[in-house]
Amino acid sequence: MILLQDMSLPELTDYLTANYNVKPFVAKQIFEWLTKSVDFDGMTNIAKNLREQLKQNCVAVSAKIVQTLTSNIDGTQKFLFELHDGNVIEGVLMKYKYGNTLCVSSQVGCRMGCKFCASTLGGLTRNLSAGEILGQVLSVNALGEGKERHVTNIVLMGSGEPLDNFDNVVKFLQLVTDPQGINISERNISLSTCGIVPNIRKLADMGCSLNLTLSLHNADNDERKQIMPVTNAYSVEEAVDACRYYFEKTGRRVIIEYTLIDRQNDSYAHALKLASLLRCMSVHVNVIALNPVKETGLKGTSESNLKKFLQYLDKLGVSATRRRTMGQDVEGACGQLRRRYLEGNNGN
Ligand code: SAH
Repeated sequence: MILLQDMSLPELTDYLTANYNVKPFVAKQIFEWLTKSVDFDGMTNIAKNLREQLKQNCVAVSAKIVQTLTSNIDGTQKFLFELHDGNVIEGVLMKYKYGNTLCVSSQVGCRMGCKFCASTLGGLTRNLSAGEILGQVLSVNALGEGKERHVTNIVLMGSGEPLDNFDNVVKFLQLVTDPQGINISERNISLSTCGIVPNIRKLADMGCSLNLTLSLHNADNDERKQIMPVTNAYSVEEAVDACRYYFEKTGRRVIIEYTLIDRQNDSYAHALKLASLLRCMSVHVNVIALNPVKETGLKGTSESNLKKFLQYLDKLGVSATRRRTMGQDVEGACGQLRRRYLEGNNGN
């Protein structure tokens, strides 16, 4: 199957003229429908026989919303998207005063094996194509009828490790920032990684202005190996050095993500080690308590210990804040909704 949302306007025009003898202005009309995530049946200004032909070989909407949960607490929406091969992925729309941030997935599942994360429990099924990452944005953006841009910010923080799907993620960034397409600025996009060092450096060398987040969670290599196997390949020092390099090359301040797990990474000694690792670096630490995942048995740090940890960091001169938890009542953390959905379908 050819995913039409994988293509920029010039690519789509080339493809349609070469294979369907379509005129460039018709290709443009189709591109506009695709940007609004409209399926072939809804492309009312396109000849019916062309649409029927396209249906045989092509997919128009690469990530279809099949389920939506809306939080009663803060209006956060969790979406389940279905892909053309029946796989499902999830995304979250968080509403802020300045706009709406969509958290998108970059892979079906994940092979990074972080012990606290629901996305990785079943391993990696497959990479998402650029158009399947973009499709999540386009489908949710289309919900804001009338408004030109419903999704104003994007975070690559859903299921998957974006730097383990480097080429497709880079292509996605080109498509989503394309002035002919949805045209969201890189400054409004964040990419979160568990620390695939060579690809952090590659991204820096591309001179992008993306916001980078490193999921660190522990500054001690031996302890981090227990919860994040990626540390066997790249040490925390290498990961932090790559972030330093990213900042030097791009001028974008890196965010360090630190999820507090009860009695595993929340002591004063941990704060001290973190402070010394990040010394002389222009970074900000986002602290959050672990969102318990039924399958992992790990517990989040208590409210009082979280506050203490923030105080330690403050005393040690590390810029840190607590990240707001949102959508607690709609299967909060990474990969949880998808797991429930798959469990439901398997009858367990
Ligand atoms: N693979 C990327 C992006 C996906 S995970 C990465 O590792 O950054 C997005 C963020 O959610 C990461 O910081 C991850 O560590 C965090 N996370 C995953 N499961 C969590 C949970 N149960 N509670 C709190 N944070 C979690």
